[in-house]
Amino acid sequence: MAKRRRTSLVRAGVGTDPAYGSVMPPIYLSSTFQIDGLDKRGNYEYSRTRNPTRDELSGALAELEGGIGCAVTSSGMGALTLILHLLGPDDLVFAPYDCYGRSYWLFRALAEKKHFKLKFIDTYDNDALDEAFKEKPKMVFVETPSNPVMRIADIADIAKRTHDAGGLLVCDNTFLSPMLQRCLDLGADIAYHSTTKFLNGHSDVVGGAVIVKDDEELMQELHLWNNSLGTIGSPFDSYMTLRGLRTLEVRVTRAQGNTEIIADFLDKHYKVETVFYPGLESHPGHEIAKEQQDGFGAMLSFELKGDLDAFLKKLGVFSLAQSLGGTESLINHPASMTHVSMGAEARAKAGVTDNLLRLSIGIEHIDDLIDDLEGALNAA
Ligand code: PLP
Repeated sequence: MAKRRRTSLVRAGVGTDPAYGSVMPPIYLSSTFQIDGLDKRGNYEYSRTRNPTRDELSGALAELEGGIGCAVTSSGMGALTLILHLLGPDDLVFAPYDCYGRSYWLFRALAEKKHFKLKFIDTYDNDALDEAFKEKPKMVFVETPSNPVMRIADIADIAKRTHDAGGLLVCDNTFLSPMLQRCLDLGADIAYHSTTKFLNGHSDVVGGAVIVKDDEELMQELHLWNNSLGTIGSPFDSYMTLRGLRTLEVRVTRAQGNTEIIADFLDKHYKVETVFYPGLESHPGHEIAKEQQDGFGAMLSFELKGDLDAFLKKLGVFSLAQSLGGTESLINHPASMTHVSMGAEARAKAGVTDNLLRLSIGIEHIDDLIDDLEGALNAA
């Protein structure tokens, strides 16, 4: 009997230990596995190639995202590196001009080294897409909602355009997780994640994953590159991420509930210029987000009208830190932190202003989060 997604997540690997019947799957740290004879080879020989703990996580992530398989990587950037190795020097790639700063850096740096041809495009503007798709991209990337200004790309529409051009659509699903956005069902061919964020969810692992919708050959090619580049995730990180995954639904539900209240609160505050949250009706991507997402997520950004230093110094619950998607609430200043590597010009184009702050909302009591923000805004 097919289990519901939440049940599959909670029960991933439970009760499968062949040695002692441990309820939770054990962690296999061994780098190598004994072979019974040259004519009797099992599934496991060397952990860079395959490892049972990594396979456990890979199976759970593939099922969660609705794909046929998953390559588990050492970081979200490792996942992107892996995907970009599918390309050759004559292949044209479209990437969003306002994606995560380090992804932007990697796209640009590898294109400069002639690994592929690159065009940064506006994935939120139909006219710009009409113009861009006059060329035939081999691979198109979307990041939706985008980091940090939460722009929404219409995945089904871009999938159609990409497939008509004979290309593959790749979706960075980090900000929502498959709990809130089924990007493969919407038409993407590949989904990838920084599992560092909501999937692990406890800010104690750096990891990534690449999930393929239905093309077995493509999946095998990605496994081959993962093994050859050595971008694989470690058994310990895989174990931790599997542990985090079990509570994904309850964490995301609570964090999202908090975020909706905070978005409304900030939207009405006189010290806030603009709030970027797709759950607000005023957000330009609200209608598409409502259609293609199962919720608006636990990330938002806003522009502060006031003194940035005074605001940040006054905060006592929110931690000023990179990253997102943990149980604890974080605040980030993209212009000097996560998006500094883009350079000032690209940041200006992407709308990453100097007074923009990004919040990753956790699962703390909502009253403490609101009190913290209110105190800091009044001090700003
Ligand atoms: N994609 C997005 C949307 C991100 O926010 C990040 C990191 O912040 C990454 C990819 C890269 O992931 P990692 O830090 O795990 O390498």
